[in-house]
Amino acid sequence: MSDSDADASALSETRSPGRVSSLNPNLDPSPPRRRSPDGVDAYVEKIRDGDRAALSRAITLIESTRAEHQATAREILHACLAHRSASIRVGITGVPGVGKSTFIERLGTQLVDEGHRLAVLAIDPSSERTKGSILGDKTRMGALTQREDVFIRPSPTAGSLGGVARKTRETILLCEAAGYDTIFVETVGVGQSETTVHSMVDFFLLLALAGAGDELQGIKRGIVEMADAIAINKADGENKRAAEQAKQEYERALHLFPAPETGWEPPVLTCSARTGEGVSAVWDAVVDFEEQMKAAGHFQEKRSEQARYWMYQTIEHRLKQDFFASDAVQSRIDEIEAKVRDGRLSSFVAAEQLLDAYRRGGRADSASASGSSAQ
Ligand code: GDP
Repeated sequence: MSDSDADASALSETRSPGRVSSLNPNLDPSPPRRRSPDGVDAYVEKIRDGDRAALSRAITLIESTRAEHQATAREILHACLAHRSASIRVGITGVPGVGKSTFIERLGTQLVDEGHRLAVLAIDPSSERTKGSILGDKTRMGALTQREDVFIRPSPTAGSLGGVARKTRETILLCEAAGYDTIFVETVGVGQSETTVHSMVDFFLLLALAGAGDELQGIKRGIVEMADAIAINKADGENKRAAEQAKQEYERALHLFPAPETGWEPPVLTCSARTGEGVSAVWDAVVDFEEQMKAAGHFQEKRSEQARYWMYQTIEHRLKQDFFASDAVQSRIDEIEAKVRDGRLSSFVAAEQLLDAYRRGGRADSASASGSSAQ
């Protein structure tokens, strides 16, 4: 998949008018400037009014690497925090092909029919490596995209997993200000991204498949441990019995883990996203969970803990960004790295020298750069 395809798919949610220029790489894809008449207040007002084009543009600001966009994004976010609606945030993971988009389409349609407003976001770690994306490269969730009360935003394509995740976390907050009460964050079940998604959702759903008799081997143990529910998808036709068997295996596996402190025992369910059978029961588990956790105070506790976590993540990120962008570091880093590579300087001393240089905001002095390593 080419970069321009990736861009196109990343924009595919913008069915609303006013967002076409970004397909042309020569045009500035940026939303209106900070001091334009369409300023922060106007943004916030439009977002709160349910203007999807404004929401999309604000998310583009969040995703932008330009400092002035980020500053505006921060202002919008800050202003939006006061207006967030009550919501449930659900992470949905599973290997490619497990049926995530089919499931989201099925469940999403049901929820919207019941009067909910749904935002579907994605975190796609593959975009970092391949510049393409597993989640964005096909026409997905066709019926959902037609619905008024649905906002679908593909994964940000640029940056590290941490960066992508931070942007998604901020996007959740904007969607809540826009009145979306149900937020799905979809990710591919390939490891690290689950931990990240887990740190921004209330409920974490693992979609799994029956088959091969070694269900648990393909899935990282840690992911099973994180799940608030496991749904064995494709429990239809000839696959039904195998799905039941897989369910029992997962139940046995879950019993080996220590009981969660919250008292919630993750249910293992079977469903068919294709026929719809069992899909409502999966949602019932989410609703039960929400009720129980709210009654016990765990719901808010978890959100507070997540907010704290993201504060530190952001600090770490910003420090790192500042460090590598500083002239003091840039002017020395190649030389010091070369010395580390050929063993003339230990990693630790080298790191200290660069940190020293950064702290002083100037060039490291030649004495400390001499490479006298005590380690
Ligand atoms: P994703 O990669 O996890 O998003 O998976 P998709 O939703 O794209 O589904 C992958 C394939 O599995 C598609 O061909 C779907 O039609 C099929 N599929 C999804 N859910 C079910 C299901 O419940 N039963 C059956 N039989 N097929 C399904």
